[in-house]
This record gives sequence, structure tokens and C-alpha cells, in this order.
Amino acid sequence: MTASPPPIGTLPPPGEVPDTMWAQVIRKDRFGDPRTAFQIEELPVPEPKANEVLIGVMAAGINFNNVWAAHGIPIDVIAVRQKAGDPNDFHIGGSDASGVVYAVGDEVEGVAVGDEVITHPGWWNPDDPWIEAGKDPMLGPSAAIWGYNTNFGSFGQFCVAQEHQVLPKAPHLTWEEAAAPTLVGTTAYRMLFGWEGHTLKDDDLVLVWGGSGGLGSQAIQLISNHGARAVAVVSNPERGEYCKRLGAVGYVNRGDFSHWGVPPHWEDAAGQKEWLTGARGFGKAIWDVLGERRNPDIVLEHPGEATVPTSIFVCEPGGMVVICAGTTGYSATVDLRYHWTRQKRFQGSHGTNDEQAVSYNQLVVNGDIDPCLGKIFSFEDIGLAHYEMEQKFETYGNRVALLGAPKPGEGRRC
Ligand code: NAP
Repeated sequence: MTASPPPIGTLPPPGEVPDTMWAQVIRKDRFGDPRTAFQIEELPVPEPKANEVLIGVMAAGINFNNVWAAHGIPIDVIAVRQKAGDPNDFHIGGSDASGVVYAVGDEVEGVAVGDEVITHPGWWNPDDPWIEAGKDPMLGPSAAIWGYNTNFGSFGQFCVAQEHQVLPKAPHLTWEEAAAPTLVGTTAYRMLFGWEGHTLKDDDLVLVWGGSGGLGSQAIQLISNHGARAVAVVSNPERGEYCKRLGAVGYVNRGDFSHWGVPPHWEDAAGQKEWLTGARGFGKAIWDVLGERRNPDIVLEHPGEATVPTSIFVCEPGGMVVICAGTTGYSATVDLRYHWTRQKRFQGSHGTNDEQAVSYNQLVVNGDIDPCLGKIFSFEDIGLAHYEMEQKFETYGNRVALLGAPKPGEGRRC
């Protein structure tokens, strides 16, 4: 055991755990702009408890959830944990990791020191009666997103995950590639395959908002690999062409429309007419992509307030709008006339369970899914990476930061 943290870009030999580590840390008194909310601090390396695994982090995926954590919106994750009895007054986020196992807690059987692994973000209390009853853990009261709701995520040199979250790293991927896709990929997998009655069928048409982003790039591949068709929504043709390269049959440029946001009240006849013109035009743009009058059976939603009214409108009767976020706002309105008479489903979706994560990771291991690594940041720039994500800087796919991995592409491969 060494007292001081290893330099960034290195890790000690597997099994040699230092006392302290460098981490990018959020504290309540600096909530706000991610560039200042995140600060590098030296903190003790956490110890894995029963059923937990200590991972030396090679690379960490950047996700939108720690943009929210940096702002303390919509929840103050530190305060929520403290209320539940956690003594720590800081947050080490990071919900995607690639790395090497350094230590295992009691009762860990399937993972050993030296294993090269990635993590999935579904976390829950193993004693939760809901889970003990064999129900979907992500619907249980203790379900959480690792590295967002929980502490000691992948923005520290060492992170602690539950054994069931730890999956084999795809041997053909570099550390940074391996750290990129799992949170968004498993979320997209659950959205597409998790909701009985509306699981993806091979003749389905799926509308994918933000097709060139993290979630979207994974969703398009899952859809086209399954034999179904994806139409992406993007903000410019370059992003649309990227989506086509991933397997989308075409794209709609949302910049061609302006009816976004909360629609006028239903009693405002003129406003409604204008809104309907925009929504119908958007629906027609999907038909133009397809060359047939076909509406999406599934709409993969995450922008939220700006787009939900349109998503509900264009969804095929009997189809599903499945949503995992409200990036543009939470006050999405639904014109119920298009919802109940056409018997559509509006389904919330969050995180992943183990089965979904294992199935998704197998596709990555098989080389069937590209991790869509868009941009690599240094450990020092983790705050900047979140700022760029929040400000919608141009990046395709996913962002990652390097911790133990020395340089892009030069990390040890299996
Ligand atoms: P991302 O990589 O930043 O991609 C988001 C995409 O949304 C962008 O590529 C952008 O594409 C599109 N977009 C931006 N503003 C928009 C607007 N006003 N209207 C329509 N589209 C817009 O983010 P991500 O990783 O895909 O995550 C997206 C959201 O899902 C985030 O809020 C994240 O927190 C959430 N999420 C939730 C879960 C969960 O388990 N609940 C898991 C993963 C992600 P264009 O500009 O080209 O349209």
C-alpha cells in the first residue's frame, strides 16, 4: 500500500491500492457552471464492502447526469444522500468506467483482481424486498443511477461498483472506447426492448430524437441491427449523414420547423392551427424520408418539453413514445385528443437492469455496436467536458475522459 495517489495517466500494479486518489469532486458551495463545480481533490480510496468491487479507472464516460449534479438540479444529490445517512459532503460522479479490478469485497465471486472490466449504471440495494421478490430492480424503491445518485463513481482514480454492475470489457476496444457507450447504450436498450407490448419488432419504424448524440447513436445501431428502421432527428445535415452511416434510413432536420415547446392552449384556435401546421409538416417530413405514409411505431424521446407534443402527435396509433429525460424542460404538455383517441402509450424509462445491460454489452463485445467515441478529454478537463455537453458543443456520439489510461489509444488492451 502506498500513501500517495498515482500520477494521472498511470495506475499501480493490480492489487496495490494506494491510501488516497485524485478525483474530480463536486461540492454544494460550488454548484453551478460545471467548469468550476468540478475541482480536483485528493481523497481516500474507498473500500469495497460486501458484494462490491474496487476498480482502477482507466477511462470515464461523460454523461448528462453529472451536468445536473454540478448544478444541483433537479436534485441536490449530496443532500439526498446525507438525508439517508451518508456522512460524505461531496460527490464523485461518473456513471461509465473502463478499468481494472483492484480489490473485491466479501461474497464477490464472479470478478477477480486483474480483470479488465466496464460498469453498467444500474445500482440498487440487494436487501430491497422488491428485488428479493424477483421484480425488475430498476422499478424498485432503492434503484439508483451509479455515479449520479451514488458516490465514488468513475471521476476518481478508483471507483466502487456493485458486483452485478461489473461486466467484461470488449477486448477489441481501447480503454476510452470501452468507457464511452454503456450508460446511454443500456438506457436505449431498455427503452427499445424493456416495455412489454411495445418491444422493438423487426418491421417497426422508430423516430430517434438527437440521433447523433450519445443515446441516439446507440439507439440507431440497436434498431438497425434488429432489422427495424430508424429515422433520426438532427439539427443539421452533417449530423444527419452521421446517423445514416450508423444505420438510420434517413433524417429530419428539426431546424426546418419552429413549432417547438408548449403548444398554444386548445381554446386558442389560431395558435392551434399554426402549431398543427408545424406538427403535420414534421410528420410529412418523416413520410418524405421513407417514401411512404408511415408513422413511427416507437418514438425515442429525451428532449422533453420542446418535443413531446410533436412526438405524441406523430406516433402511430397504438404506438409508444418512450422517454428517459427532459433536457429542454419538464413541463411537457400533451394534447390528449391525439393520445387517447389513438390509444398511444407514453412510457417513462430510466437506467437499466442486469439482463438488459448484459445483452447490450454482449452486442458491444461481439463488435455489433460501435461505441461512437466522439471526443476525448483529459482528467483535468472533466468540468469542461460537462460544460461543452450542456452548451451543445458539436460532438458526435459520446465523450470520455482519461484517468489511468496514458494517452488516447495507448492504453493497455486485453
Ligand atoms: P447528448 O449526447 O448531448 O445528445 C442530445 C441530443 O439532443 C443532441 O445530439 C441534440 O441533437 C439533441 N437536442 C439538443 N437540443 C434539442 C432540442 N431542443 N430539441 C430536440 N433535440 C435536441 O446527450 P445524451 O447523452 O444523448 O442524453 C440525452 C438526454 O438523455 C440527457 O438529458 C440525459 O441526461 C438523458 N439520459 C437519461 C438516461 C436515463 O437513464 N434516464 C440515460 C441516458 C441519458 P441535434 O442538435 O442534432 O438535434
